[in-house]
Amino acid sequence: MLFRHTEQMSIMTIDGSEGEGGGQILRSSMALAVLSNTPITITNIRAGRKKPGLKRQHLTSIRAAAEVCAGTLAGDEQNSSEVSFTPGPISPGTYYFSVGTAGSSTLVLQTVLPILLMADGPSTVVVEGGTHNDMAPPFDFLDRCFLPFVRHMGATVDLTLEQHGFYPAGGGKVIAHITPAPLAGFDLIERGERVACRAEALVSRMPVDIGERQMKTIARLMRQVPAENTTVTEVRSPGPGTVSMIEMEFEHTTELVMAVGRKGVASEKVAKAAVKEANAYLDGDAPVGPHLADQLMMPLALSAAFGDPTTKRGGSFRTGELTDHSTTHIDIISRFLPVDFAVVSNDDDTFTVAVSSRP
Ligand code: ATP
Repeated sequence: MLFRHTEQMSIMTIDGSEGEGGGQILRSSMALAVLSNTPITITNIRAGRKKPGLKRQHLTSIRAAAEVCAGTLAGDEQNSSEVSFTPGPISPGTYYFSVGTAGSSTLVLQTVLPILLMADGPSTVVVEGGTHNDMAPPFDFLDRCFLPFVRHMGATVDLTLEQHGFYPAGGGKVIAHITPAPLAGFDLIERGERVACRAEALVSRMPVDIGERQMKTIARLMRQVPAENTTVTEVRSPGPGTVSMIEMEFEHTTELVMAVGRKGVASEKVAKAAVKEANAYLDGDAPVGPHLADQLMMPLALSAAFGDPTTKRGGSFRTGELTDHSTTHIDIISRFLPVDFAVVSNDDDTFTVAVSSRP
C-alpha cells in the first residue's frame, strides 16, 4: 500500500520557527518523515511559543513516532530546541505511551495515527495524559468530528475513553484500535441539513451544580440547543476538572467546540466561551471549522499520496479563512509527500482546499 523509497532520502532540515511555529510542525514532521522515509533535523522547535522547546506532550509524541518505526531519535530532552530523527520501517503492534503530565493524549495519538494507518497490519495504541485540554482536540472531537472521515475513507479506527484527564492532574486514558486500509478520498463542500445541536458539561471532583450552570447558560443563549439536549456528566478522573462542549451535527459533518473551566472562572463564563465559538460556526455555512481543517489535511494527503489508484485519491473541503496553523500544515505536508494543495477563495468568503497527487 505504502510507496517506499528504495533508498532513504537525503536529510531534510525543518525550521520549527516557520509559519505558526508551534507543536504541529514537530508532530507532523515526525509522522511524515516516517511515511516518506526521510531523515530529518528539526531546529528552533516551537520558537513561536512563549515557552519554546520540547514539553512533555511533544517529547512523548516524537518518541512515540520513533517507537512505532524503531527509528533513531537524538536531542529528545525536555526543553530541547533541536532533534534529529532517522526513521525505520513501520511496525504495527500494541503500544503504550504516557505523557506523564496532563499534556494532551490526543495530540500523541494525532502523531502516530497517520503512521499506523499506513502500516501493513492492525495496531492498538494506549495513551495516558490529558483528554480534555485547552489548545488540543478533546477526545470527543477526534471521535465524532475527525475519525468519521477517516472511517469513511476506508480505515477502521475505534477509540475508547477509559478515563478522563484534566489539567493539571492528567491521568486520562485513551485506547485506539487501528486497522489500516487503502484510503479513498472525499469531497466535503456542504454541511447538509442540521440534524441536532447538543451540549454536555463534564464535571470531575467538583459540585455538579457547576456543570448545571454551564448547561443552563448554553440553553439560554442558543436557541439551537434546547434544555432537553443538554447533559451534565460526572466523570471519574484523578483530579478536578470541568468543560463545556457543544456538538453541532449536520448531515455531512459534525463540529464540536469546547471551553475548559478554570479555578476562579464562573461557570457562566466558561459556557459563554463555548457559545461564542459555536455561534462562529453556525453563523457561517462552511462544513469544516478551523481545527478540522488542520486535521483533515493529513488523511487527504495520505489518500492522494498512497491511496489505491483505482479509487478516488485526495479530495477537497470547504472551510473559513485558513489559520496560520493550517497554512503551516500545508507547507509541511507538501515538503514530504508527492501531493499538491490548491486553496481557492470562494465568493462567499469561504475557501476550498483541494489535495491531489503530484503528477
Ligand atoms: P504548541 O503550539 O504550544 O506547541 P501544541 O503542541 O498544542 O502546542 P499546536 O501547534 O497548537 O500544538 O497544535 C494543536 C492541535 O490541536 C492542532 O491540530 C489543532 O487543530 C488542534 N486543536 C486545538 N484546539 C482544538 C479544539 N478545541 N478542537 C479540536 N482541535 C483542536
